[in-house]
Order: sequence, then C-alpha cells, then structure tokens
Amino acid sequence: MRVADIQRFCTHDGPGLRTTVFFKGCPLRCVWCHNPETQKFESEMMLHTALCAGCGACVEICPAGAQILTQTDRYRKVELCVGCGACAGACPTEACRAVGREMTPEQVADAVCEDAVFYATEGGVTLSGGEPLCTDGIEQLVPLLKKRGLHVLVETAGACESARLARVAPYVDEFYFDIKHTDPQKHRELTGALPDAILHNLALLDSLGARIRLRCLLVNGLTTEKEHFERVAALYHSLVHCTGVQLLRYHPMGGSKAAALGLADSGRREWIPTEEQIRRAAQILTEHKVPIFL
Ligand code: SF4
Ligand code: SF4
Repeated sequence: MRVADIQRFCTHDGPGLRTTVFFKGCPLRCVWCHNPETQKFESEMMLHTALCAGCGACVEICPAGAQILTQTDRYRKVELCVGCGACAGACPTEACRAVGREMTPEQVADAVCEDAVFYATEGGVTLSGGEPLCTDGIEQLVPLLKKRGLHVLVETAGACESARLARVAPYVDEFYFDIKHTDPQKHRELTGALPDAILHNLALLDSLGARIRLRCLLVNGLTTEKEHFERVAALYHSLVHCTGVQLLRYHPMGGSKAAALGLADSGRREWIPTEEQIRRAAQILTEHKVPIFL
C-alpha cells in the first residue's frame, strides 16, 4: 500500500478521537482538491519553501541539479527531479519531503493500533486519500482492522471498482460518501469524470446495508446552486441506509500543497462559501426533511 500520511488524534474525520490514514492515488481530479499530494498513485517529492532554512544541503546532494537556491529564488525544477529522495534525507527542517511510503496492510494496521488506547468507545480509524478504495491491499487491510476490534470509517468518492467495494463493505462501520455535483455535466467539468459509475456504487453500498453519510463540499459559485441541494435531497431519500448529509466548506489550503509539488497554486479564496450560502444549503435540505451535519 502507498501511504501519503498517517495523522493521529484527528477529531474531524468521524466520531471520537481517530487515526486517519491517507492513501496515495485518486482517479478523479477535482478542481478544488484539498489533498493534491494524494492524487498521483506514485510517490512524489514536495518542497515547502516556507520551511526552508537555506542551508543548501539539498542543492549539494541532488544528483540532478533540480534544487535551485539563490539570493532571490528557491524552487525545485520538477522536470529535472528523478525522485531519488536524497534531498528529503538531507534536509534538516523537512522542507523537502517525500510523499508516498510503501507499507504492507499489517504495517498500516500496526501503526494504527499504536493509538488504540486513545479511541475509547467512539473513536477508531478513518481510511482516506486520495481514493482509499483504489489502493491495492485495502481488501486485506479493512478485515484486519476489524479483526483488531477497531471502528472503521472510509471516506470515499465512490470512484472505484464495484466488486472491490462489495468485498470491503461488510467490514466497514460507516462510509462518508462525497457527492461532488449532482449535475452530470458539471460533475465532469469539476472532477474529470461522469458520475454514473459513482452513483451505481452508492446504490450498491445501500443495497448491501452499509451505513452511509453523504458529504457535500460547498465551493462558492461551483457547488452552491439551489437545484444541486434539491437533487441531493432526492438522492438522500432514494437511499435506505443513509443517515444524512454533511455540509463541508471549501478552504484554500490545498493551494500551498500544490505549490510544494511544483504545480500551480490552486487555492482560490473566492471559492470560500459565504455564511449565507451555507445557511441556504442547510435550509433547503431541512425543508426536504434531510438530517444535516454541519
Ligand atoms: S528527489 Fe529530486 S530534487 Fe530531491 S535530490 Fe532527488 S532528484 Fe534532487
Ligand atoms: S536542505 Fe532543507 S533547509 Fe536546507 S536548503 Fe534544502 S530545503 Fe532548505
């Protein structure tokens, strides 16, 4: 399995205190992506220039001449970088960092279980990404976590193989299922894919009796239309095992991570939803008798 990060003591990724495992790789390309470092399935390098102390160790060790450090410039020539990871090993401040650590399902389960004493009755493990259900080894990991008595939550956009989803579902306590957009063409514009296969997987999960919470990210001007939330309400009512809809706010944090990857800064402050947009979305869902989580 290729792990981007393991975050401990998380309070926003499900009930109680949780350990969240972020896996590398996602077939979607949401324009607002909060975790661009998890999009590619391969390992990659990041350079956080704000953390750089200017010591020059990375410049000295880089075999490709990719690290640029002058009086006025500090960047990595992505086109020259061969991903050897030497700079990450030499950097004293973790400004240079490799994203994507190879781990076996057993190693992931062991790392998660280090925190088990803190979970109490409510907490557990959240599998996230990227798209965790596209990760090889997920079918071994999820039963292993369950066997160790953990509450298992999966954050998914449903963009995965249906057969794999069906095999994993019996071992998952709850799915947080992202609804990117309910208009098929807008879904394609905003994520790069049509939603048909995703909606098929949502219906499949529901037919298997999985506990599901839908999640909608509010992005000002992109996912804030009244009709979208009316369709989300209809989708909720089409499901038997859905507990409600969670409204999430866009934040531009993904921008600095994109810049650290050598991509254009994709964080857009104008996409932050207004309080009025959040209130209206909640009101539409409430009027349609949909339980909401804010
Ligand atoms: S990972 Fe890239 S930038 Fe870092 S030392 Fe290797 S080639 Fe140079
Ligand atoms: S090794 Fe780290 S701190 Fe030193 S110049 Fe390179 S990125 Fe900056």
